[in-house]
Amino acid sequence: MKKIISMALTVVMLLTAVVAFSACSKDDEVLVMATNAAFPPYEYVEGEEFVGIDVEIATAIAEKLGMELKIEDVEFGSIIGGVAEGKYDMGMAGMTVTEERKQSVNFSDTYATGIQVIIVKEGSAIASLDDIFVFDDEGNPTALKNPEVKVGVQQDTTGDIYSSDDITNWGLNDVEEDGTVTTDRVVRYKTGAEAVEALKTDKVDMVIIDNEPAKSFVAANEGKIHILSGDNEYAVEDYAICVAKENTELLEKINHALAELKEDGTVDKIVAKYINAGSSN
Ligand code: GLN
Repeated sequence: MKKIISMALTVVMLLTAVVAFSACSKDDEVLVMATNAAFPPYEYVEGEEFVGIDVEIATAIAEKLGMELKIEDVEFGSIIGGVAEGKYDMGMAGMTVTEERKQSVNFSDTYATGIQVIIVKEGSAIASLDDIFVFDDEGNPTALKNPEVKVGVQQDTTGDIYSSDDITNWGLNDVEEDGTVTTDRVVRYKTGAEAVEALKTDKVDMVIIDNEPAKSFVAANEGKIHILSGDNEYAVEDYAICVAKENTELLEKINHALAELKEDGTVDKIVAKYINAGSSN
């Protein structure tokens, strides 16, 4: 009887060891990336596959780290929280580095530049920033040209954050000193594509969104919408990968891999594959 119990115990211990080992090796081998795959050309779905600049750069990073990339497609607004609490190893989603986000996560070195641009419907009364803001002599906005204006954005993106601010910060909202919004002119959508649909059906007067997805949306809606050109960029920003604050080891590895991929031309090659030469990005 004793023998049976000790054999059974050995089996249990062995099984525990196997399970523990496989769990550990699984964690070490898989790099889980959270993204929002509705942001062409950085991340989007083609057929059954995730494709785009971020997807390819992340794949190359994972390869350098000897890991397998696993992509989790989630809402943009839940990436940072999920990374911070260790649900995902990293977040990569054409994500702009901001001071506020830096309170929750660390960012890698930057790998791309993003520009916030304004999309309007063909024939719109808005042809430049001068049709949105009244400026003082120093070029600072002091009032809205049309207080009835509505702007569509993807929720929780920098387009949302900037336009939700008050006029002194180039926002479109009326915000009191304590931060209370008295007039909200921003309409928030789950994806940029939904914001663009709202623009086409006159639910909003303009959409503020990153330059490259803006170009993709315009190309898909030729003759119906366009990007304000000339000196009408809304903001210039850096894209980077976010990692949990305590995971400095992974951040270092990512930065090391990124540096190598920039150095050997891989990043440029990936960007060129998705973005036509001569584009501003
Ligand atoms: N660059 C913007 C941001 O970081 C938008 C990113 C996105 O929609 N994927 O907020």
